[in-house]
Amino acid sequence: MNNAKLFIISAPSGCGKGTLIAELRKRLNVYVSVSCTTREPREIDQEGVTYFFKTKEEFDRMIEEDMFLEHAKFSGGWYGTPRIPVEENLANGKDVLLEIEPQGAFQVKEKRPDAVSLFILPPSVASIERRLRRRAVDSNESEEQIQERLKTVVPDIKTAYKYDYVMVNGDLDKAIEDLVNIIKKAKNGGEGLEAFKAEKMKKTIDEVLENA
Ligand code: 5GP
Repeated sequence: MNNAKLFIISAPSGCGKGTLIAELRKRLNVYVSVSCTTREPREIDQEGVTYFFKTKEEFDRMIEEDMFLEHAKFSGGWYGTPRIPVEENLANGKDVLLEIEPQGAFQVKEKRPDAVSLFILPPSVASIERRLRRRAVDSNESEEQIQERLKTVVPDIKTAYKYDYVMVNGDLDKAIEDLVNIIKKAKNGGEGLEAFKAEKMKKTIDEVLENA
């Protein structure tokens, strides 16, 4: 029987989810979807690896041709998940992971209620600002771009209550362990994950928002 699962992971910009997902890939055999975007490539970006970079015209054509499982505008750019690779991998029995922002996450959840959604919280909003500023130095981002990203952080965190599971990216080793644990157990029905359920994490989400 094919029991391949679709996982949706969201986290605010600058939460360090890139590192976590890279570690997850080393430990589990999952297909991580490569999105299309209209944003400008950064220094670390590689065409076809981190993203497929598209013009707005190309992106619009892909929408018209129903090539996206979901798409959304985020911080001035458009982002979308190519539908066919996701469907093919699931059909072939491989788990699929989407690393997307909340609007897209809810579109996918609506289309595929069996998908498992996970929100990764930062330990604090201040930690995100520090990380975004560090990254901006490496990738020549302007103060305006940093501010654009920062504007999305609190509204994104407010959606965490609606995910299936929530975890914190504080200590890296602990976060990797939690992430692998959540993915493995969610695949087998979610037993043992009560502590990570969004309703159980409500207080933690509240605290991050109160201190923002
Ligand atoms: P960045 O520009 O920093 O790589 O990503 C910005 C945001 O876009 C992140 O929150 C990331 O999760 C989200 N994102 C990346 N790909 C997609 C996608 O295909 N669809 C949606 N909805 N969001 C995406």
